[in-house]
Amino acid sequence: MGARETVADARERWIPTDGVELCVAELGRRTDEDGSRRPTVVLLHGYPDSKELWAPVAERLADRFHVVLYDVRGFGRSTAPDPLRGGFTLEKLTDDFLAVADAVSPDAPVHLVGHDWGSVQGWEFATVGRTRGRIASFTSLSGPSLDHLGHWFAGRLTRPTPRRAVQALGQGVRSSHVYLMHLPGVPGTVFGGLGTALARRRGRPVSPDLRGNAAHGAWLYRDNVRSRLRAPREDAYAHVPVQLITPADDPFLSPAVHDGLERWVPRLTRRTLRAGHWAPRTHPDRLAGWIGAFVDACEGRREDGGGGGGGDAPAVRGGRHGTYAEYFGEQLVLVTGASRGIGRAIVLAFARAGARVVAVDTDGENAARTAELARRVGAARAWAETADVSDGRAMEALAERVADRYGVVDVLVNNAGIAAAGPFLEHTEDDWNAVLGTNLWGVVHGCRLFGRQMAARGEGGHIVNVSSCAAYEPTRALPAYCTSKAAVLMLSQVLRADLAGQGIGVSAICPGIVSTTILDDTRFRGFDEQDRQSRIKRARQVYRIRRYPPEKVADAVLRAVIRDKAVVPVNLEARAGLWLSRLAPSLLRAFARINVRA
Ligand code: NDP
Repeated sequence: MGARETVADARERWIPTDGVELCVAELGRRTDEDGSRRPTVVLLHGYPDSKELWAPVAERLADRFHVVLYDVRGFGRSTAPDPLRGGFTLEKLTDDFLAVADAVSPDAPVHLVGHDWGSVQGWEFATVGRTRGRIASFTSLSGPSLDHLGHWFAGRLTRPTPRRAVQALGQGVRSSHVYLMHLPGVPGTVFGGLGTALARRRGRPVSPDLRGNAAHGAWLYRDNVRSRLRAPREDAYAHVPVQLITPADDPFLSPAVHDGLERWVPRLTRRTLRAGHWAPRTHPDRLAGWIGAFVDACEGRREDGGGGGGGDAPAVRGGRHGTYAEYFGEQLVLVTGASRGIGRAIVLAFARAGARVVAVDTDGENAARTAELARRVGAARAWAETADVSDGRAMEALAERVADRYGVVDVLVNNAGIAAAGPFLEHTEDDWNAVLGTNLWGVVHGCRLFGRQMAARGEGGHIVNVSSCAAYEPTRALPAYCTSKAAVLMLSQVLRADLAGQGIGVSAICPGIVSTTILDDTRFRGFDEQDRQSRIKRARQVYRIRRYPPEKVADAVLRAVIRDKAVVPVNLEARAGLWLSRLAPSLLRAFARINVRA
């Protein structure tokens, strides 16, 4: 028998309700030094856990909030109803919640946070009339409303399309454990045993309650699932603001079950986390930050940090608001080469999604202008930093500064780049140093320094390296540039394999011709001044005629992060080139010979 996990410094008490006694733990003070009331946050666990699941998050929230956790009836140290059958209905669980809320926060509504079955319960509490005035907000993690799920399945069965049918089937498979819950003896033995084995394998304390939790908790399923899915309530509207956190890699719940949730939740904030099912254990900093920020927003408070890595509170939003906001709201995004062109467009795209952005460039004034624009279009916060990406020391100082001032970067975009054009024999050593310094070493420095911080934090992240179609389309006109971009493409793929185990995605973006000012700073070699000017003029015409806007590259960057894409060719010539490089490389080699002077 293993040791029981505990919530450090918690004050415990038992609250009687409807024939059972609930074990309740409290952390953090109820009032601040100036006598003002602190918001109460109630954290509710799922199956087959007990309240200790939330310990890492609770400890991070306790310096700003009054935090309450309780063992659901039949779990942990709360007593079980007798008989078990009929003792776990959502109505009875609502009674329990109200008894706890009245005891811990009699004069103010509480902020509810639920995981797994804690979230299933939370949806019930947030949508039934008798809890009105007792809940200030609800944060849902890995547990759907049974009513919404019932309507979701019904919609897919009555109006099937191939996509909707696959979605319903997929969720049916993910819910396989629910069928087993109805078999006598299975939950305690199988899920209790499985949970114990998993905890041992991961070196966690094995809770002596696990088998009991697993056996009692099966009644959560038996008393509620079939009946609710068959006859979901028609009026299950949330009467509080809801923050929905969707772990993208949850094996039990498909993100698709939350499609159309806005119909039921008028004030919905969506967030996506690259995490599995037990995010309260694996991502406590991120969750504490988001919960703290959401509570602040609902209370009308705006405070920095606290709560373990938060940042400013987001506005509580109604409905959808910007395509990517659910993914990047409040995330910290750093972009190099941000003062113009593609870099600036990337900063602004993340800003529109409500991210906190850091615009980095050698030109501090222009970077500051980008940051100012970012604030105007909706960035949660925006800052400018000056650094030459080719300078290792400067990049080290930048990485330290960013970590100190703004925190660990969630998304890094290594975009800064320059070009040199002309035959190989006309390129000087200085040309090679300049191009490789910015295009390759800049990316190496960024990946190494910020990647290390992401890995140390242990919550994953994403690195985007802006390569080019020149990485796989050789041309004798751009020897140093093509070489640098090919190296960035290879580095990105190597890094992707290396960092995958730490939840850090890596994408290489390969645009074709994009209308920016890149030609202005391109080093042209092997031409006299007059020839050079006329070639720049002609090249500009090509860029003008092509008219491919940097905003489209930015959009591809955001999608690459969301979908964790490995290599993304951006426009037609980039996609065609990628196919040719695979199917007919000799054709590309023939194109590469076209004389640059011609
Ligand atoms: P721009 O020349 O318009 O912008 C480049 C940006 O990078 C500028 O803000 C520049 O800053 C900054 N920069 C240059 N060197 C450094 C450095 N050493 N340290 C920090 N910042 C630096 O280029 P694009 O926007 O067109 O290019 C962005 C990226 O996209 C590059 O990597 C490029 O190779 C790639 N790309 C571009 C294509 C195109 O057709 N435009 C096609 C395919 C890829 P400053 O203003 O101070 O010079």
